[in-house]
Amino acid sequence: MARYTGPVCRYCRREGMKLFLKDIRCATDKCSYERNQYPPGQHGQGRIRVSEYGQQLREKQKVKRLYGLLEKQFRGYYKSANNQKGNTGENLMILLERRLDNTVFRLGFGATRSEARQLVSHRHFLVNGKRVDVPSYQVRAGDVIVLQEKSQKVARIQENLERSLNRPRMSWLEVDEANFTGTVLGLPVRSELTLPIQENLIVELYSR
Ligand code: SF4
Repeated sequence: MARYTGPVCRYCRREGMKLFLKDIRCATDKCSYERNQYPPGQHGQGRIRVSEYGQQLREKQKVKRLYGLLEKQFRGYYKSANNQKGNTGENLMILLERRLDNTVFRLGFGATRSEARQLVSHRHFLVNGKRVDVPSYQVRAGDVIVLQEKSQKVARIQENLERSLNRPRMSWLEVDEANFTGTVLGLPVRSELTLPIQENLIVELYSR
């Protein structure tokens, strides 16, 4: 599946908040958003009046960029969320969180979602004993995600796991760092997402 490979710091500036797409750099004074807190481009510093549609669009773009998705894929998630029972916005966020690349990131194997995505597509993981290299794979309660034996020696992954101990843990995941294993205990919990996201605006946008 296609993905965006261009510069990502401009996304944070565009959305007016830190999206933490770049690992260590995000916590240093090299962070572009910290240095230039206005949208990128020639007219970035001009006065901008944001319409209702504009707010809805920005919210959608923010979530799309956070999870590293393009429009077609994101719309597909919205359709699935809309076909499910319950709150569409919440369903959407749960579907996005259940992606294998996001789960690998949440477990701490990858420092960012894009790194986690690369680890998945480079076949570093087994899900329930079978090799899965599809980043969009939807994890389910009871799934066991294991780092392949030969990948357990990769210094970068070990370092990521160590550093992830400082990140907030998700109650729907259990990590066994010693055995490079993660277990999905249940469905993701919407309230555990720390970045401010108003998914209702995305629903309003797609319902137009
Ligand atoms: Fe965003 Fe700053 Fe991280 Fe770049 S370094 S991705 S601007 S938070």
